[in-house]
Amino acid sequence: VKQRIGLLFGGCSGEHEVSIASARAIAEALAKDGNDNAYEVRLVYIAKDGSWHGPETAEQVLQTAEPLVTRGNGGATLARLPVLEQVNQIDVWFPILHGPNGEDGTVQGVLTLMQQPFVGSGVLGSALGMDKIAMKMAFAQAGLPQVDYMAVNRSQVWSNACVLPKLCDRIEAQLGYPCFVKPANLGSSVGISKVRSRDQLETALDNAASYDRRLIVEAAVTAREVECAVLGNDMPQASVVGEISFDSDFYDYDTKYTAGQAALQIPAPLPETISRQIQAYAVQAVQAVDAAGLARVDFFYVETTGQVLINEINTLPGFTATSMYPRLWQASGLSFPALVDRLIQLALARARETP
Ligand code: ADP
Ligand code: MG
Ligand code: MG
Repeated sequence: VKQRIGLLFGGCSGEHEVSIASARAIAEALAKDGNDNAYEVRLVYIAKDGSWHGPETAEQVLQTAEPLVTRGNGGATLARLPVLEQVNQIDVWFPILHGPNGEDGTVQGVLTLMQQPFVGSGVLGSALGMDKIAMKMAFAQAGLPQVDYMAVNRSQVWSNACVLPKLCDRIEAQLGYPCFVKPANLGSSVGISKVRSRDQLETALDNAASYDRRLIVEAAVTAREVECAVLGNDMPQASVVGEISFDSDFYDYDTKYTAGQAALQIPAPLPETISRQIQAYAVQAVQAVDAAGLARVDFFYVETTGQVLINEINTLPGFTATSMYPRLWQASGLSFPALVDRLIQLALARARETP
C-alpha cells in the first residue's frame, strides 16, 4: 500500500522561494522508486498572502518554481479550507516551510489539533527553535556555551527619546562593538546587522524592530562557521560536521542565496576532538529545545582559543539537493531519498507514541 504524503510548502515568510526549492527536491525523492516504501505525493501550497491551495495550483508552482501571485481573495483561508478535506486522504504530512508561519510551531499546532502525523518538531521544539531569545535561554539552561547577548523589546527602541540612549549605553557596556542586532524570530539573515558605532546601533535596532517585537543583540565573535545535522526522535544521531566559507563580512542574505558566494566543505577540516565536541553539543541542543525528526545546529569555532560556541538551531533547515542538511547526511552515508524515507518513518513513530 502506498503511503500518502502531504507535502506542505511555500508559506507566509521571507523564505518562501527556498521552501519551493526544498519541496521540489523532496517531491522528486518521494517519487523515486527503489525505496521499500513507495509514496504518493499530495501537494498543498501556502501562498505568500497566507492562502492555502490544493494540488492543481501547488503542482503548477512546483513545476514553474514561481510563487503564486494572489490579488486579495486569491485563495481560501485556513478556516474555509477545501484543502483540509484531504486530511483523511493523507497518512503523513511533510511541512517544508522555512521561517515564521511554518517553522515556528504554528503549522505544527494545526496538524497536532487535526491529529495528523507530521515530519519534524512539534509545537514546543519549533517555537523554541525559532525565537532566538527563548532558544538561547534553553541552551544556557542545558549548559551549552554561547556568545553574550541581551534581549530587547521593540517598545524600548520605539519609545520616547530618553529610553533609547539608556538602552544603547547598556548594550555598549555589556557587549561593546562590534555587535550583532537581530529580529528574534526570523531566518536567512533577514533584518540582521553587524554594527560598530552608536549611530549604526540605533539604525540597526530601528530596522530589526520593523520585523519583530522581540530583538536580540549579541557580542560578535571572529570565528569559523560550522554546522551539524541531527536526525532522530528521542535518541538523535549527529552527522559529520560541515563548514561554510565566504568573503563577505558575515553570512548575510546575499551570501546565502547568490550562487558562488559561499563554499561548503564537508567534512570540515577540524581536529577530531572538536568535531566530536560539536556533534555532542548538536544532540544536546536538539534535546534542550525538544526538537524532533530533523534539525541543523550551527556553531562558531574560534580557532585561536579552540572554543566552540553554539549559534542557533534550525528545525526545518534548507532541503534542496545542494543544501547543507541533506549533504551532511549524504557524507555520513545516507542518500537524499533514504533520508526523506527515514524522516517519514520517524514521524509515524512519534505519532504512535502515547502523549
Ligand atoms: P539566521 O537565523 O537568520 O541564520 P544567525 O543568527 O545565524 O541568523 O546569523 C546569521 C549570520 O550572521 C551568521 O551565520 C553569522 O555569519 C553572523 N553572525 C550572527 N551572530 C553572530 C555573532 N554573535 N558573532 C559573529 N557572527 C555572527
Ligand atoms: Mg536561523
Ligand atoms: Mg543562521
